[in-house]
Formats: sequence, structure tokens, C-alpha cells
Amino acid sequence: MFFNKLFGFFSKDLAMDLGTANTLIYQKGNGVVLNEPSVVALSRDSGKLLAVGQEAKEFLGRTPKKIEAVRPMKDGVIADFKVTQEMIKYFLTKVQGSRLIHPRIVIGVPTGITQVEKRAVIEAAESAGTRSVHLIDEPMAAAIGANLNIEEPYGRMVVDIGGGTTEVAVISLSAIAYSESIRVAGDEANDAIVRYLQKKFQLLIGENSAEQAKINIGNAFPKEAPPTYDIAGKDIVSGRPKVVTITEKEMRSALAEPIQAILQAIRRALEKTPPELASDIHDSGITLAGGGALLKGLDKLIAHYTKLEVNITEDPLKSVVLGTGIAVENMNTYQKVFIN
Ligand code: ADP
Ligand code: MG
Repeated sequence: MFFNKLFGFFSKDLAMDLGTANTLIYQKGNGVVLNEPSVVALSRDSGKLLAVGQEAKEFLGRTPKKIEAVRPMKDGVIADFKVTQEMIKYFLTKVQGSRLIHPRIVIGVPTGITQVEKRAVIEAAESAGTRSVHLIDEPMAAAIGANLNIEEPYGRMVVDIGGGTTEVAVISLSAIAYSESIRVAGDEANDAIVRYLQKKFQLLIGENSAEQAKINIGNAFPKEAPPTYDIAGKDIVSGRPKVVTITEKEMRSALAEPIQAILQAIRRALEKTPPELASDIHDSGITLAGGGALLKGLDKLIAHYTKLEVNITEDPLKSVVLGTGIAVENMNTYQKVFIN
């Protein structure tokens, strides 16, 4: 009884995937305890936080004039420091409440993150009552989460396709030997769908509807998606509600540009990888992680163009958080992968 009370003062160590689309938190011993969109709804007048996460995501495109729904990480790494910090604080408080002894935390961050951005993430975590904040590169975390043996002197390529960024990384000896990051991923795919429907069908749709369409019929390779899908929106000219039936082939044309950009990033990374590691990748293939990896047929397309074997991690939306979780469960073993 006494000991239970005593240990109640201690919070369990945490791990976080701070994604441009989704934030996930892992608690030592308990697994994934939070999985919410990285979205914040604010009052336009006071700047006050009105909703965070899933609730705020439903506000996107549906807010009255007085409310603004923002994705603080969306355009690049951290587009809005203050809101990002508030969001981190909100999520951390949600999972741990207030405790006397503060937990340690491991946070996955994009490879391209600047010193200033690192500082902002660390400060946000500290202001939410955590101590000793460790950062880890997201592709490294995804590799750990996918149970790849990152410690070997052997090259492996991980492609993490998230909402805002696609990160291509070559990992060997617990380090990132080469990385390539582009700001084209799931969000750009949604935007491409919006533009395509606007141009071809004079149909206006919002970000969330575009994402739903992408998840249902989005595809990168023939015969991987259902043949057709109905999308509801608004006619540009008349302003009236309208439904359009789109085919999987049309969807492929809509997504051609962002998909090409991802293919090119992979190709560039393969070209720039040192020969020994490139030859390892020839044998080990490419591992896809991140929600974007779920786009139907994308693995087949990448395999077709690179002539390499392509595998998707077991649960691509969770690879990073599970990797940071493994790091927090085995803090000493993973010291060398922390980047701060
Ligand atoms: P981040 O790490 O940037 O937060 P995630 O790894 O959580 O990103 O992936 C989010 C992206 O994955 C979003 O753009 C979302 O639309 C996309 N996504 C999720 N599920 C699917 C699916 N089944 N098909 C295609 N894209 C998907
Ligand atoms: Mg991610």
C-alpha cells in the first residue's frame, strides 16, 4: 500500500512520435497510450486553445469564423512554435496528469530538424513536466520499430512517408549514413486530389474529404484499388452540392506528381549512397513506414522502378512510436541513437 503510494509519485517514462499529421505517445510498460491528429483549434479573438487532436481535426474546413483549426507542424517541420508547444504540452498532460517525479522522454523528430527546432521541442516537453528529453531521428525510430537490426555494419534503406515530409534514410551501425528529406508526402497527395477534381470536374472539396478519397481509392499501381469511388463536394460555378464518380485510373493521374517526387527522392538517395552500403541495400531492399506507405500499390511501384524488394512495416502509422518505445524501454542500449 505504502509502496504503491510512493511509486505513484513517479511517472512512467514516455516516448513520443511528433508527426506532422499524427502524434502518438508510448508509456513505458503500457505501450501506445495516445494516438491523435496533430491539430489544434484556436479562438481567432483570444488565441485560446479550444480543442486539440481528433476533436480539432473534425473542425478542419468546418470552422465558424471565430475558430481556426491549424496543423502547427504541417508545412515543413515546425511551422508554428507556440501552437506546437501548446499541443505537446496538452498531449503529455493528458497521458500523465500531474506527478511529483517527472518522467524521462524520448521524442522522434524529422531528420532535417534545425537546432532552433530541436530546442523548441525540448522546451515544450520540459514545460509539460518531463525531464531529460532525448531526441531520435524518425527514420531511425521507424527502423527500430520495424525490428531491423540497426547496429550491424550493414546498409538498410528506410522510407518514412508521413503527412508533411517523406524521409529517405540509409542506416548502418546505429547511425544515419545518408538521408534525403522532401516536403512532399500525404498532405501533398490530398492537395493534388483537390486540384485534380477542381480542374477536371469543377468540384470543390475539403482536405478531409480528399484524404478519405485517397484512403479509399488512392493508388499508385494498376488494379490495386476499387474501380470507382463517389466524392461529394460543391460545384465551383453553381455553388451547389454535387457528387462525382472518380475511377482508379483518374486517381492515379491525380496523384502522379507527388508520387513522382517521392520516387525521385528515393532514386537520388540510392545514387548518393556509398557503394558498399548501396550493395547492402541491393540485398536488404527498402522498408516503407509512415501512413503514406499505405497508399495502395505504392510498394509495387517503388519495387518496379528501383528493381529492389520493398517491404511495408507491420503497422506503418505506428513504426516510429513503437521504435521510440523500444528505445525508452531499453534506454541504456539505445543511448547511441539519441541525437542530442
Ligand atoms: P506524420 O508522421 O507526418 O504524422 P503519418 O505517418 O501519421 O504522418 O501518416 C499520415 C499520412 O498518412 C496522412 O497524409 C494520411 O492521409 C496518410 N494515410 C493514412 N492512412 C492511409 C491509407 N490507408 N492510404 C493512404 N494514405 C494514408
Ligand atoms: Mg512520422
